[in-house]
Amino acid sequence: MNGRIKIIKGDITQQITDAIVNAANRTLLGGGGVDGAIHRAAGRGLLLECMTLNGCETGKAKITKGYNLKAKYVIHTVGPVWNGGNRGEEKLLAGCYHHSLNTALEHNLESISFPAISTGVYGYPPEKAVKVAVSETVKFLNANPDFKEVVFVCFDDHTYKLYEAEMASR
Ligand code: ADP
Repeated sequence: MNGRIKIIKGDITQQITDAIVNAANRTLLGGGGVDGAIHRAAGRGLLLECMTLNGCETGKAKITKGYNLKAKYVIHTVGPVWNGGNRGEEKLLAGCYHHSLNTALEHNLESISFPAISTGVYGYPPEKAVKVAVSETVKFLNANPDFKEVVFVCFDDHTYKLYEAEMASR
Protein backbone atom coordinates (compact mmCIF):
# COMPACT_ATOMS: atom_id res chain seq x y z
CA MET A 1 0.00 0.00 0.00
CA ASN A 2 3.12 2.22 -0.13
CA GLY A 3 2.42 3.92 3.16
CA ARG A 4 -1.10 4.98 2.21
CA ILE A 5 -2.49 3.23 5.30
CA LYS A 6 -1.49 4.68 8.66
CA ILE A 7 -2.31 3.33 12.10
CA ILE A 8 -2.09 5.77 14.97
CA LYS A 9 -3.16 6.02 18.59
CA GLY A 10 -5.12 9.17 19.25
CA ASP A 11 -8.30 11.21 19.15
CA ILE A 12 -10.10 11.36 15.82
CA THR A 13 -11.37 14.89 16.46
CA GLN A 14 -7.77 16.13 16.17
CA GLN A 15 -7.04 14.61 12.75
CA ILE A 16 -6.15 16.85 9.83
CA THR A 17 -7.20 14.55 7.01
CA ASP A 18 -9.72 15.95 4.50
CA ALA A 19 -12.49 13.99 6.25
CA ILE A 20 -12.96 12.17 9.51
CA VAL A 21 -15.51 9.39 9.83
CA ASN A 22 -18.10 9.43 12.59
CA ALA A 23 -19.41 6.14 13.99
CA ALA A 24 -22.93 7.56 14.26
CA ASN A 25 -26.35 6.08 14.95
CA ARG A 26 -29.25 6.06 12.53
CA THR A 27 -30.70 9.36 13.74
CA LEU A 28 -27.42 11.20 13.00
CA LEU A 29 -28.37 13.45 15.89
CA GLY A 30 -25.43 12.68 18.15
CA GLY A 31 -24.73 10.12 20.84
CA GLY A 32 -21.94 8.89 23.08
CA GLY A 33 -18.41 7.68 22.34
CA VAL A 34 -16.76 8.96 19.21
CA ASP A 35 -20.06 10.51 18.01
CA GLY A 36 -20.33 12.70 21.13
CA ALA A 37 -16.67 13.70 20.89
CA ILE A 38 -17.04 14.74 17.23
CA HIS A 39 -20.19 16.79 17.87
CA ARG A 40 -18.56 18.53 20.86
CA ALA A 41 -15.46 19.41 18.87
CA ALA A 42 -17.34 20.45 15.70
CA GLY A 43 -19.89 22.67 17.43
CA ARG A 44 -23.60 23.26 16.94
CA GLY A 45 -23.36 23.82 13.18
CA LEU A 46 -22.76 20.10 12.73
CA LEU A 47 -25.93 19.15 14.60
CA LEU A 48 -27.97 21.68 12.62
CA GLU A 49 -26.74 20.24 9.31
CA CYS A 50 -27.31 16.67 10.54
CA MET A 51 -30.92 17.59 11.35
CA THR A 52 -31.52 18.18 7.61
CA LEU A 53 -30.30 14.71 6.58
CA ASN A 54 -33.18 12.47 7.72
CA GLY A 55 -30.86 9.98 9.35
CA CYS A 56 -28.80 7.26 7.71
CA GLU A 57 -29.27 3.52 7.18
CA THR A 58 -26.95 1.02 8.82
CA GLY A 59 -23.98 0.32 6.54
CA LYS A 60 -24.43 3.54 4.54
CA ALA A 61 -22.79 7.00 4.83
CA LYS A 62 -23.65 10.70 4.57
CA ILE A 63 -21.32 13.70 4.42
CA THR A 64 -21.43 17.09 6.16
CA LYS A 65 -19.02 19.95 6.62
CA GLY A 66 -16.56 19.79 9.54
CA TYR A 67 -17.38 23.15 11.17
CA ASN A 68 -14.90 23.75 14.03
CA LEU A 69 -12.94 20.57 13.32
CA LYS A 70 -9.55 20.58 11.63
CA ALA A 71 -10.98 18.23 9.00
CA LYS A 72 -13.08 19.96 6.35
CA TYR A 73 -15.70 17.20 6.24
CA VAL A 74 -17.32 14.60 8.47
CA ILE A 75 -18.56 11.40 6.87
CA HIS A 76 -21.22 9.89 9.11
CA THR A 77 -21.67 6.15 8.88
CA VAL A 78 -23.81 3.81 10.95
CA GLY A 79 -22.16 0.59 12.05
CA PRO A 80 -24.12 -2.57 12.85
CA VAL A 81 -24.89 -3.61 16.40
CA TRP A 82 -23.16 -6.97 17.05
CA ASN A 83 -25.76 -9.69 17.50
CA GLY A 84 -23.64 -12.83 17.46
CA GLY A 85 -22.39 -12.51 13.88
CA ASN A 86 -25.21 -14.21 11.97
CA ARG A 87 -27.30 -11.10 11.34
CA GLY A 88 -25.32 -9.69 8.42
CA GLU A 89 -22.99 -7.72 10.68
CA GLU A 90 -19.88 -8.31 8.57
CA LYS A 91 -21.52 -7.18 5.33
CA LEU A 92 -22.95 -4.09 7.02
CA LEU A 93 -19.61 -3.15 8.57
CA ALA A 94 -17.90 -3.63 5.19
CA GLY A 95 -20.59 -1.30 3.76
CA CYS A 96 -19.59 1.39 6.27
CA TYR A 97 -15.99 1.40 5.02
CA HIS A 98 -16.95 1.00 1.37
CA HIS A 99 -19.54 3.80 1.37
CA SER A 100 -17.43 6.16 3.50
CA LEU A 101 -14.42 5.75 1.21
CA ASN A 102 -16.50 6.19 -1.93
CA THR A 103 -18.24 9.25 -0.50
CA ALA A 104 -14.80 10.78 0.08
CA LEU A 105 -13.82 9.97 -3.50
CA GLU A 106 -17.03 11.46 -4.92
CA HIS A 107 -16.20 14.72 -3.14
CA ASN A 108 -12.65 14.73 -4.53
CA LEU A 109 -11.13 14.18 -1.10
CA GLU A 110 -7.76 12.47 -0.82
CA SER A 111 -7.43 11.52 2.83
CA ILE A 112 -9.70 10.15 5.53
CA SER A 113 -9.50 9.03 9.17
CA PHE A 114 -11.57 6.18 10.59
CA PRO A 115 -12.38 5.21 14.17
CA ALA A 116 -12.88 1.49 14.89
CA ILE A 117 -16.54 1.54 13.84
CA SER A 118 -18.96 -0.58 15.93
CA THR A 119 -16.29 -1.75 18.40
CA GLY A 120 -17.53 0.42 21.27
CA VAL A 121 -21.11 0.44 22.50
CA TYR A 122 -22.21 -1.58 19.43
CA GLY A 123 -20.14 -4.53 20.67
CA TYR A 124 -18.50 -5.77 17.43
CA PRO A 125 -15.46 -7.87 18.43
CA PRO A 126 -12.46 -5.66 17.61
CA GLU A 127 -10.33 -8.54 16.29
CA LYS A 128 -13.04 -9.24 13.71
CA ALA A 129 -13.77 -5.58 12.97
CA VAL A 130 -10.16 -4.71 12.08
CA LYS A 131 -10.10 -7.46 9.43
CA VAL A 132 -13.15 -5.93 7.74
CA ALA A 133 -11.71 -2.41 8.02
CA VAL A 134 -8.35 -3.35 6.52
CA SER A 135 -9.72 -5.59 3.81
CA GLU A 136 -12.24 -3.00 2.51
CA THR A 137 -9.59 -0.28 2.66
CA VAL A 138 -6.99 -2.31 0.76
CA LYS A 139 -9.58 -3.13 -1.92
CA PHE A 140 -10.45 0.57 -2.24
CA LEU A 141 -6.84 1.77 -2.37
CA ASN A 142 -5.98 -0.82 -5.02
CA ALA A 143 -8.88 0.38 -7.14
CA ASN A 144 -8.07 4.08 -6.54
CA PRO A 145 -4.31 4.62 -6.82
CA ASP A 146 -4.60 8.42 -6.52
CA PHE A 147 -6.28 8.34 -3.12
CA LYS A 148 -3.54 9.47 -0.74
CA GLU A 149 -4.17 8.31 2.80
CA VAL A 150 -6.39 6.28 5.09
CA VAL A 151 -5.68 6.66 8.81
CA PHE A 152 -7.00 4.20 11.39
CA VAL A 153 -7.26 6.17 14.62
CA CYS A 154 -7.19 3.87 17.65
CA PHE A 155 -8.37 5.02 21.03
CA ASP A 156 -6.66 2.22 22.96
CA ASP A 157 -3.53 0.06 22.78
CA HIS A 158 -5.46 -3.15 22.20
CA THR A 159 -7.11 -1.85 19.01
CA TYR A 160 -3.81 -0.36 17.84
CA LYS A 161 -2.05 -3.71 18.20
CA LEU A 162 -4.84 -5.52 16.35
CA TYR A 163 -4.50 -3.17 13.36
CA GLU A 164 -0.71 -3.56 13.38
CA ALA A 165 -1.03 -7.34 13.44
CA GLU A 166 -3.63 -7.32 10.66
CA MET A 167 -1.44 -5.17 8.43
CA ALA A 168 1.64 -7.28 9.19
CA SER A 169 -0.23 -10.47 8.26
CA ARG A 170 -0.83 -9.24 4.68
P1 ADP B 1 -20.05 2.32 18.13
O1 ADP B 1 -21.39 2.75 18.65
O2 ADP B 1 -19.99 2.30 16.61
O3 ADP B 1 -19.56 1.06 18.76
P2 ADP B 1 -18.32 3.98 19.84
O4 ADP B 1 -18.17 5.46 19.74
O5 ADP B 1 -18.98 3.43 21.07
O6 ADP B 1 -19.07 3.54 18.49
O7 ADP B 1 -16.91 3.30 19.70
C1 ADP B 1 -16.23 3.08 18.49
C2 ADP B 1 -14.73 3.09 18.72
O8 ADP B 1 -14.27 4.45 18.80
C3 ADP B 1 -14.28 2.43 20.02
O9 ADP B 1 -13.13 1.66 19.75
C4 ADP B 1 -13.94 3.61 20.92
O10 ADP B 1 -12.94 3.28 21.86
C5 ADP B 1 -13.41 4.60 19.91
N1 ADP B 1 -13.42 6.03 20.30
C6 ADP B 1 -14.17 6.66 21.23
N2 ADP B 1 -13.86 7.98 21.25
C7 ADP B 1 -12.93 8.18 20.29
C8 ADP B 1 -12.19 9.32 19.81
N3 ADP B 1 -12.37 10.53 20.33
N4 ADP B 1 -11.28 9.13 18.81
C9 ADP B 1 -11.09 7.90 18.26
N5 ADP B 1 -11.74 6.80 18.67
C10 ADP B 1 -12.64 6.93 19.67
